[in-house]
Amino acid sequence: MKMKAKIELHCHLDGSLRPETVLEYANQLGVALPTNDVEMLKAYLVAPADCPSLSEYLKRFDLPIAIMQTEEVLERVAFELMEDCAEEGVKYIEIRFAPLFHQAGGLSVTQIIKSVLKGIRKAEAHYAIKGNLILSFLKFMPVKTIFPVLDEAKTFIGKGVVAVDLAGNEEKGFSHGFIDAMAHAKQLGYHLTIHAGETGFGVNVLEAIELLGAERIGHGVSIKDHEKAFELVKNRNIVLEMCPTSNVQTKAVTRIEDHPLAAFLEAGIQVTLNTDNRTVSDTTMTKEIMLCKEVFGCADEDYRKIYETSLEASFASEDIKQWLRGFL
Ligand SMILES: [Zn+2]
Repeated sequence: MKMKAKIELHCHLDGSLRPETVLEYANQLGVALPTNDVEMLKAYLVAPADCPSLSEYLKRFDLPIAIMQTEEVLERVAFELMEDCAEEGVKYIEIRFAPLFHQAGGLSVTQIIKSVLKGIRKAEAHYAIKGNLILSFLKFMPVKTIFPVLDEAKTFIGKGVVAVDLAGNEEKGFSHGFIDAMAHAKQLGYHLTIHAGETGFGVNVLEAIELLGAERIGHGVSIKDHEKAFELVKNRNIVLEMCPTSNVQTKAVTRIEDHPLAAFLEAGIQVTLNTDNRTVSDTTMTKEIMLCKEVFGCADEDYRKIYETSLEASFASEDIKQWLRGFL
């Protein structure tokens, strides 16, 4: 794997905070901390390799979200994530986060998105990296809360916001509850990527594509055991945003050796490689690429294919895509 350039399409802002920054702002904002030692805090923020489930994994987000309630913090953490990415050769990233989680301090959706975009733009001015935002909604949130966010944020479409995502714990058949909300998102001009098939339900991938119109799927691991979903993903060239380290932590796969990424790649499925959460999963794109090489036996040519797939499946402008093609 000689290629240095990287593209990341699946990275949660709240799962990718620097522990030092969490410590600094928790003390400043009066948020209770389990420890004041930065190393111990880091260990606290990382989900253990033997994390029993996805819901246990998701608890790691509570503390970061508790501090991400002011414009200053939102701008700062977005900037730092871009900086961390740029330093390991990521040229383009789609950062996702849930605006509804950042209103405890009274910020509006517009203020929240503007602050995160400010951090992204600042990093773009300093480093050779570009970024866009994906707005996440959690599957347990009341569906009616989605519509006003979509409407308020639509002025940012194509100006830093590119897509909408559904994330969080996965129940079988969840797509049925989001048909109207996701149709509304599409109508307004948002692209659509959906977390599905992360923890056991291949049928959720099929439904996210057929009922919601997902253009990309977050994870999609479970299609390995669901022939119809597998065929649909393959035939429609639906791109999977795979996150191997995270998939072991959330029990999507038991062992890293069992991860289907290489098998999917060989079968002609469009696969991309991502971190999911840099802090909670204690990983980087560099680490994920090493895993591909050392555990899945991927060759340079396979990584080139992954980079190309990420590039073409990104929701970036044609100008950015053209720039990214220059790294091939
Ligand atoms: Zn995710």
